[in-house]
Amino acid sequence: MAGFQVFAIEPALAEKVRTTLKSPQYGHPAHVELAAGYGPCRACLKQFRVGKEDRILFTYNPLAGLDDYPSPGPVFIHAQTCAIFAEIGKFPEELRSLPLTLEGYGKDRWIIVRERPSAPDIEGSIERLLHTPGVEYVHVRNTEAGCFIARIGRDDVDEHHPR
Ligand SMILES: [Zn+2]
Repeated sequence: MAGFQVFAIEPALAEKVRTTLKSPQYGHPAHVELAAGYGPCRACLKQFRVGKEDRILFTYNPLAGLDDYPSPGPVFIHAQTCAIFAEIGKFPEELRSLPLTLEGYGKDRWIIVRERPSAPDIEGSIERLLHTPGVEYVHVRNTEAGCFIARIGRDDVDEHHPR
């Protein structure tokens, strides 16, 4: 079977947020604060150390380059530069314990299939979603907050990766 890749936000976009303190896509002011929650950071895909790390909140459209129908929402990244998650075929360990909803999108951003896998079944869920007919990519969302966390694509197709 084809593998998968979890895509964090792009490094250039993360750096632009840090240097301008604005949403690169919308221009809204970004907000810097001491982490009051676990996040996670949409760049390194690790959880924030509550009360110890600064984070930046900004408005982000994860559909840019994927679909004309945007879905802007609030996301956090570390205020300091961090290592963008870029491992192929691996699900970020610090996301595993979070309440996750995986959404499989087809054309026109239509949700074709959705699962809320338990931690041990995440890879199985990703495989099922990516192999569901019509699904082009998968979004990982926080079930409690509803926020976008990361996108998952097949590692043998990259034309859907927004650049
Ligand atoms: Zn980070």
